[in-house]
Amino acid sequence: MENIKKYIEFEPSQKCSVTDCNKKANYEVYLYDYYREFNEEFFEQDYTCPFICEEHMHLNEKNASGNRRPRGYVSYPFTNKHGAQGYTRYQPVKEIYSELLNNGLLVPNASLRIDFSDINSQLIQQLSRNPELMYKLDPRKFEELVAELFNRKGYEVTLTPQTRDGGKDIYAIKKDAIAPTLFVVETKRYSKTNKVGVEIVRGLYGVKSAERANVGVIVTTSSFTKDAIDFASPLNYELSLRDFDNLKEWLSEYK
Ligand SMILES: [Zn+2]
Repeated sequence: MENIKKYIEFEPSQKCSVTDCNKKANYEVYLYDYYREFNEEFFEQDYTCPFICEEHMHLNEKNASGNRRPRGYVSYPFTNKHGAQGYTRYQPVKEIYSELLNNGLLVPNASLRIDFSDINSQLIQQLSRNPELMYKLDPRKFEELVAELFNRKGYEVTLTPQTRDGGKDIYAIKKDAIAPTLFVVETKRYSKTNKVGVEIVRGLYGVKSAERANVGVIVTTSSFTKDAIDFASPLNYELSLRDFDNLKEWLSEYK
């Protein structure tokens, strides 16, 4: 399977990823899982909290709950915010980066590659041929799909940790010669009959304003209520509502 790579900026002076923490990162955070059936170990960088300081690491461990083994799920205050199966492991940053540097895999200020998506060309092709399959994706997967579609259109994309209320999902930055533009994107993988209402559109508009983003975008497998459309239409430089037909059109480029 071909994985689409995602990137996060790495700098040697990397800060702890915990909100409002200004300490230097001491550890890189991994999600660790073990599949007994396949006797296979699974590691991935925790994109919901890629770096953590010493102090937060201890707090994170102290307040963790759940079973690590056999194959379990552990809930943490700071890491594994996407609620994935497995538990958090830490690796001192010095070790990783000196190793990467020594192997010529990393130059200071280079981007660190992380994989967090298995949205691949094959899946996108399948969806472009049969867009109805989008209704079968779980909401997080749908979010990754939308992130990937933005990515393919030349945006720099960051997925945010999953939140209960679905808040903002994706940041997408478009850089061009004149000015960079920041988009906050919220995805709603709703059934066809469940239209996105005005309260969600209003909510995103609030987030967009608070985050000083340029444009708020809602992408849904469904469509929008009349109230939602009426709210957004005078704000058409600040809000963009994309429905099933728009998605179909985006996907059709990858047939
Ligand atoms: Zn910290």
